[in-house]
Amino acid sequence: MPGPFPPSDFDDRPLLVDGQVLVLDGQELRIVVTARRKRLGLTVERDGTLTLRAPLHCEVLRAEVFVRQSRAWIDSKLGLRDQHRPAHPVREFKDGERFRYLGREYRLLLTDEGGTPVRLAAGRLRMDRAVAGEPGQARRELIAWYRRAGLRWSKGRLQPWAARMEVSEPEVTVRDVGNRWGTYRSGGSASGQMAIHWAVFQLPAHLIDYVVAHELAHVRISGHGPDYWMLLRRAIPECEARKAELDDMGRRLWLG
Ligand SMILES: [Zn+2]
Repeated sequence: MPGPFPPSDFDDRPLLVDGQVLVLDGQELRIVVTARRKRLGLTVERDGTLTLRAPLHCEVLRAEVFVRQSRAWIDSKLGLRDQHRPAHPVREFKDGERFRYLGREYRLLLTDEGGTPVRLAAGRLRMDRAVAGEPGQARRELIAWYRRAGLRWSKGRLQPWAARMEVSEPEVTVRDVGNRWGTYRSGGSASGQMAIHWAVFQLPAHLIDYVVAHELAHVRISGHGPDYWMLLRRAIPECEARKAELDDMGRRLWLG
């Protein structure tokens, strides 16, 4: 005997389908349906997209209510994610602009003194006015200054760290190493080659030391396995805290 409602009426309460994308309040949710789940669960992925994990036979309506109730949580997660996004500043080459070196702030002073295009003297970073007038050239000259100053500084620092860590000193260069702060390659000279990003020299000395020690540890151990961290921790007991500080400050460095 047919009931009062035709069977198709069940379709009025649609269920979530595995793999579907549900759009709710302008936000896309990727749906993952799992048989062993009982409850709904939300994840904010690294790229900022949302995944909703649901049990079998879950009504879309139930999912919508759940997601709307989770709004504050979603917003806080998305906000946290923004804090981890790089926020590299833009700098202009004008009088008074602030640049950092070894953690200290120096104001730019445009001069007509001639000679070296960029130099640090009497507490000011001095740049030739004609150079400053050409942003591309100003940028190149300032980066070249960071490379020279950084190389001088690291040469004095490398030996004590290498001695402390009982590794031989690699050759060191200071340059742009892309999205890393330092690299180490074995080969070439007997104890390999280390490169440090020029932008690192804006950081306080204890963080540059961390980059130096990090790469020096690779002279003995490649990769970042447990014995790598054990070696680094012997040299810098608070290395995890320094790494976190580097990750945080590194996102806000001027990259040219
Ligand atoms: Zn490494």
